[in-house]
Amino acid sequence: MLVLGSGPAGLSAALYAARAELAPIVLTGIQLGGQAALTYTIENYPGFPDGLGGAQLGELFQKQAEHFGAKVEFDTANEVDLSQRPFKVKTDNGEYLADTIIVSTGADPIHLNVPGENELTGRGVSYCATCDGWFFKDKKVVIVGGGDSALEEGLFITRYASSVTIVHRREELRASPLLQMRAKEHPKVKFIWNSVITEVFGSDKVESVRLKNIKTGDESTFETEGVFIFIGHTPNTGLFKGQLEMDPRGYLKIDEKMQTTKAGIFAAGEAADSNFRQVVTSAGMGAAAAIQATRFLEAESG
Ligand code: NAP
Repeated sequence: MLVLGSGPAGLSAALYAARAELAPIVLTGIQLGGQAALTYTIENYPGFPDGLGGAQLGELFQKQAEHFGAKVEFDTANEVDLSQRPFKVKTDNGEYLADTIIVSTGADPIHLNVPGENELTGRGVSYCATCDGWFFKDKKVVIVGGGDSALEEGLFITRYASSVTIVHRREELRASPLLQMRAKEHPKVKFIWNSVITEVFGSDKVESVRLKNIKTGDESTFETEGVFIFIGHTPNTGLFKGQLEMDPRGYLKIDEKMQTTKAGIFAAGEAADSNFRQVVTSAGMGAAAAIQATRFLEAESG
């Protein structure tokens, strides 16, 4: 069994597969531990009432899977041939043959696609508060988005930044009531409603953004040194185009037993889930995919 991705889904799948003596190999992908590892504190994974760091939880997942015989390789798949078995997976470091594959390649943040965004990424534009928040000590930052990620990450940056301005395209937040309450009550957090960023300015690093009020059409310039963008995600499934069925946004289609549209290929976590996107739900999907993959292989061997 080959597991593609080392987030909560992949490492939980590996744990279950290892305990079923399938000696799974996990290809970590670029981000060891997946998106969860970039989260400063995870407060809603059961069993840890005081919360714990995302990277720390990832390490625990990995340790537990390895304890039962999973192998974790720092490698990334870049080509797959699912037309016949064994399935072929080409990676940065070589080629793997697998009887069954669990796809847990996760998702990446969506970009605004406005001028200046790409050029200034890493120079003030960021998609990860945990990674970059520290660089904004005593600086003004802007957060884009009105969902749980925007508010959670925005609240995190208040540790460093002098002010955090949340720019949201509506006047109602999508985030959960608890996060809304925390953000609205925080003295460093301000909101700009009904607005979007249409351009990011800066010669060497971010200096300002152009804001557009989408109700009035009014445009203004807002000085800021950081732009953190949290407007959703896109699944990492490009590798499987033409080989596995997906929905129009690229999320893999799976049945209630985690099987993709190809027998022997299972999927778990955000590559196949745009709805729940939690560490606990992804881990659950990973476990379910491994159980089903084990049954699939057992049924084949009689
Ligand atoms: P999300 O819920 O899809 O929210 C995306 C936000 O970005 C929305 O407010 C949306 O505005 C805005 N947006 C989308 N495209 C935009 C654009 N082009 N320009 C400007 N704004 C744009 O994404 P998320 O916050 O990443 O959360 C995803 C899922 O993960 C959710 O189910 C969430 O509950 C979950 N999550 C949970 C936690 C937690 O439990 N602690 C933490 C993080 C994420 P509209 O509201 O107008 O659509």
